[in-house]
Amino acid sequence: MPHRLGRAWRSSGWRLAVLLLLAMAVGMLTHALFACLLAALLATLAHGAWRLARYSRLLASRRQIPPADGSGIWDEVQNTTRKRQIAAVGDKRRMLRLLRSFRDAAAALPDAVVALDREQRIQWFNAATVQLLGLKYPQDLGAHLPNLVRSPRFGEWLLREGDEPLVDLPSPVSEDLRLSLRLIRYTDDRALLVARDVSQLMRLEQVRRDFVANVSHELRTPLTVVHGYLDMIEPEQVPEYEPILHELRNQSRRMTQIVEDLLTLSRLEARSDLPQERISMRPLLEALRREAAALSQGAHEVTTGIDDRHDLLGSSKELHSAFSNLVSNAVRYTPAGGRITVRWESDGVGARLSVSDTGQGIPAQHLPRLTERFYRVSTSRSRESGGTGLGLSIVKHVLQLHQARLEIRSEPGVGSTFACVFGAERLLEPLALAEAP
Ligand code: ADP
Repeated sequence: MPHRLGRAWRSSGWRLAVLLLLAMAVGMLTHALFACLLAALLATLAHGAWRLARYSRLLASRRQIPPADGSGIWDEVQNTTRKRQIAAVGDKRRMLRLLRSFRDAAAALPDAVVALDREQRIQWFNAATVQLLGLKYPQDLGAHLPNLVRSPRFGEWLLREGDEPLVDLPSPVSEDLRLSLRLIRYTDDRALLVARDVSQLMRLEQVRRDFVANVSHELRTPLTVVHGYLDMIEPEQVPEYEPILHELRNQSRRMTQIVEDLLTLSRLEARSDLPQERISMRPLLEALRREAAALSQGAHEVTTGIDDRHDLLGSSKELHSAFSNLVSNAVRYTPAGGRITVRWESDGVGARLSVSDTGQGIPAQHLPRLTERFYRVSTSRSRESGGTGLGLSIVKHVLQLHQARLEIRSEPGVGSTFACVFGAERLLEPLALAEAP
């Protein structure tokens, strides 16, 4: 391009030089050198102004610039602009094709995708959004999303910036349509909301839950009968079967405990909320200390500590049972002579109930799976100590129903700490203070 530009400049320069020479020759012949040179320069200027006017008209019109067939600088400028214009049109077409294919791909997604701005106003959405979230095109463009999806759970989740996926939200289109939502922030002030239809998955999950609940329920009666008959047999009546009878009783007790724990889990899974009661922590800790001491039978040193004056808001029965599970684990997995500490303490934002022991500890690779049903670090140790493998699952479910979480820290050979972490919204001022004016 610079090469062609140089040629064009040279060509225009030559033309000007020839014109000036001609003007000088005519000027000398006619003894009007100055007038002829002035006329030639004026003619050059007028030609330049005319080409500039024509060029600016061409630029202003939205039509395609025609090719110039001269070799001067103005022709070169016109041809260069024309090439740029043609390239820009090609680029624009390619971009449009790309944009269309992106739009078609997004439209073909089975998941609803909604682009939101900082104020959660709808910028764009795909076709699946109409079926899954009931948005209308084009009326709902620019609308505030929480005004259209009117669910308190959804609103609160958006306020929390969609910190974690929102599972099992009924669609505004139909209660039977269950959605799982994610909020993906892709710039500081823009986010994508992705909603997936998980109705089928939720139905299967319900079938699984019903199945476990029904099986456990069905097993309960025959087990009670077996257990009852076993209790009726006195070992003295059948001295030769005494060890077998002992084992039968143990196993039937274990099975009954498993069934009871499975039923507890099913009951917790079926609930979305629990009674909200004021739980005074001092008597609760004292009750836990007594339970630990009874289980330990003097084999461990059990202490309690209170570093937070708040009461706890939640279901007294379920939380007590969850904390008892942790205490019972601490006793069962800590060798005689160990120390067990139950503590209610502040954690800066909320408060936590922690159960620490100086027991065998748990290798790090097991920690993420401990709350799965029937997951045990050592199956034999758990069975020997009367464990069902469901204790920590129950704890996790109870805590979820209180928007709390279980934090586990453990070091093999040193001990473990299981902490139930509650948010500030679960803490109540002690009654004496709360009632003060
Ligand atoms: P289990 O009835 O087997 O105790 P849990 O769900 O209560 O079932 O606990 C799961 C597993 O976690 C246990 O089998 C045990 O291996 C481990 N575990 C729980 N608490 C402790 C603890 N305090 N110290 C060491 N291991 C523990």
